[in-house]
Amino acid sequence: MPELPEIETISRQLNRLIVGKKIKEVKVKLPKIIKMTSVDFKRALEGAKIKSVDRRAKLLIFELNNGWSMLAHLKMTGQMIYKTTDHRLRTTVENKHTHVVFFFTDGNRLLFNDLRQFGYLKLVKSAKLQEYFIKKSFGPEPLVKDFTLPDFKALLVKKPNVRIKQFLMDPKNIAGIGNIYSDEILFFSRIHPLRRVASLKKSEIKKMHLSIKKILADAIKLKGTSAKDYLDAFGQKGKFAQKLRVYGQEGKKCVKCKDKIIRIKIGGRSAHFCPVCQK
Ligand SMILES: [Zn+2]
Repeated sequence: MPELPEIETISRQLNRLIVGKKIKEVKVKLPKIIKMTSVDFKRALEGAKIKSVDRRAKLLIFELNNGWSMLAHLKMTGQMIYKTTDHRLRTTVENKHTHVVFFFTDGNRLLFNDLRQFGYLKLVKSAKLQEYFIKKSFGPEPLVKDFTLPDFKALLVKKPNVRIKQFLMDPKNIAGIGNIYSDEILFFSRIHPLRRVASLKKSEIKKMHLSIKKILADAIKLKGTSAKDYLDAFGQKGKFAQKLRVYGQEGKKCVKCKDKIIRIKIGGRSAHFCPVCQK
């Protein structure tokens, strides 16, 4: 599932690609993707201009110039890809999994593809967005400057008995971290995924706070991780997969100690880690 770095990549790219463009027509090929009737959806979008593209947690936010914002959640296999008439940037990404197409007045398009069909699009009044996020109980954004070490500690104190891997993956604690980046953050912090929050030392918490910022920022620089279906807004794969140290590396040698990376089940999800380096 795409996590913060992947959604942030798409958001930044689309901000450069489609802001100011006017939507001429919306084609909904699979109505269940839209969390309202296709008629109402089209009525709100057609004729509107894109004011900005942003991200909160794992949601893409398209603010329109008519008071509406469209939210897109990519869930497991969703993609949001720009299809341009510019032959230099041309991508071949329109396929049988293209469920919604946004046609802009300049001939370019935005595609919503989703193989597994768990993703969705919905409209929220822009003025009600903050209220909507509060209702969803999203935790703080880890990359903003004011997500400080004391803030992180304050979150941890509330969940002393939770295992740290599960703590990191719960969007109500911190927004945007899933299976891939929680594994990588714990490897860089040298912390075993099954540790309980209350057992963490001050120095470990500090290391983890730094690792969260570093790993997520590094992943954004490389446009995310294409573990499975994730593609960026240009239809290209992210390159952070080459930098993964533990996620998906089961049976491979640890880059630090050369012992083997192992995988265990935890709460229905997998944790990948080095049993020597992570205590
Ligand atoms: Zn190791």
